[in-house]
Amino acid sequence: MDAVAQRAIRGEGTTEAEWSRWPGLARLPVIAPQDLVPKNARAVVVAPHPDDEVLSVGGLLAQLAACGRAVEVIAVTDGTASHRGSTEWPVERLARTRPRESLKALQCLGLAIEPIRLGLPDGGLKALRAVLAARLVSLLRPGDVVFTTWRRDGHPDHEATGEACALAAASTGARLAEVPVWGWHWSRPGDVRMPWQHAFRLPLSEEAVRRKRAAVKAFTSQLRRDASTGSGPVLRATTVQRAARPFEVIFL
Ligand SMILES: [Zn+2]
Repeated sequence: MDAVAQRAIRGEGTTEAEWSRWPGLARLPVIAPQDLVPKNARAVVVAPHPDDEVLSVGGLLAQLAACGRAVEVIAVTDGTASHRGSTEWPVERLARTRPRESLKALQCLGLAIEPIRLGLPDGGLKALRAVLAARLVSLLRPGDVVFTTWRRDGHPDHEATGEACALAAASTGARLAEVPVWGWHWSRPGDVRMPWQHAFRLPLSEEAVRRKRAAVKAFTSQLRRDASTGSGPVLRATTVQRAARPFEVIFL
């Protein structure tokens, strides 16, 4: 079994009810958005797929928008591989729809910004890590705080994006914060495969939670059953429930 396969989600994955019963999450050191992204710094979210920006740090983005911090979102792919073999959601339809959903979700968070789209192939980032890192080096500035998917998240694109961001941040003088997305669903409370020693808890305001929930609902292509393949929604119920937490966890 290769390393990524050891981080595969089984069934629906670990539920939010299981996480909420674990006292370890409440014991994580707390960090405030204003300390994480200081005044005059820019938050740059690098999302492998449209929806990762919200599932990872949607609440943080809502709070940064509310306090007037500069935010940039970089969409690495357009997410066209979410419905393989589907006649309801062919690649061209996903290429039109998913970036639009992301734009609407950002509006829900209070951000009137358009992501920078890199147009790299969904499902193909592992082989393009160096290309992605080079693109990011041209976009990042010293002092930026980069938020991206954790480099051991379990999805090959999430891991490649985390690794490319680590390289780009190191060479530009940006700070890096990695965020588990799939990690919540294959790992278990207290799981030693999660780097809890680097984890910080970011409490969210009621307003930020409300905005994040609305932003998740913008990804309608990911929330519906696909009649043409008989598959359930791409975003599992456990993922949607986890996105409604009153906090986010980042690895620094
Ligand atoms: Zn993703």
